[in-house]
Amino acid sequence: MLGSGIVKGFVETARNFVGSFHDPERLVTIEYPDERQELPENSRNFPMLVYDGDDPMKGLRCVACKICEKECPPQCIYIEVERDAKGKALKHPRIFDLDISVCMSCQICVEVCPFDAIKMDTAFELSTDNRFGGLLLNKHQLAKPNSYYRAIHPLEAAEVDERLAAEQAKAAAKAKAAAAKAPAPAAVNAVAT
Ligand code: SF4
Ligand code: SF4
Repeated sequence: MLGSGIVKGFVETARNFVGSFHDPERLVTIEYPDERQELPENSRNFPMLVYDGDDPMKGLRCVACKICEKECPPQCIYIEVERDAKGKALKHPRIFDLDISVCMSCQICVEVCPFDAIKMDTAFELSTDNRFGGLLLNKHQLAKPNSYYRAIHPLEAAEVDERLAAEQAKAAAKAKAAAAKAPAPAAVNAVAT
C-alpha cells in the first residue's frame, strides 16, 4: 500500500517516544544528587595515599622517595621526608601536600611509584570556596585505607594486593635462607679465637 512505509516509521517513532518515558531500562537520566551512578573501575579524579592497617599515618605505604614529586608534570606535589633526632632520613613523609587545583589527573605519579603508595581516587564532590583549606590537601586528608582502594578499584587493588603479598613472601623466604646460611654464634667465636 502506498505510504505504508511512512506509517510504519511513524508507529516506530511513537513507540520509541512513549517507551523512552516508561521503560525503566531506557530512563537514562539520573536524579543526582538523590541518585548516584556507580562509577566504573577505571574512573579517576585526584590522587590519594594508600595505607595498610588501622593507623593512617603509621600504615602509609609512602616512603618519601620523592619520585612522584619529581615526575609530576605541573609540580603539584610537595614532600619533605621525616627525620630522626640525628637528622637521619626515615622512610616516611613528614609533609606530603598535593594541590588538586593544579593536578591534571594524569596518573603519572601512580605509574612511577615503586611502592603502590599513591593511587587515583574517584571522589569528585570537592567544590569549595576555600582554596587552601579545601584544595591543598595534606597527608592526613590524602590518606585512604586499602579497603577504600579495594572498594573503588576492585580489580586493580586485587592485583596489587596479590603482587605485594608475593613480594613479601619472597623477601621472607630470602631472609630465612640468609639466616640459615649464617654461621652459628659459637662457630663465629671459634673462628675469632
Ligand atoms: S607516593 Fe610513591 S613515589 Fe611518591 S614519594 Fe611516596 S613512595 Fe615515593
Ligand atoms: S595525577 Fe598527574 S598532575 Fe596530578 S599529582 Fe599525579 S602526576 Fe601530578
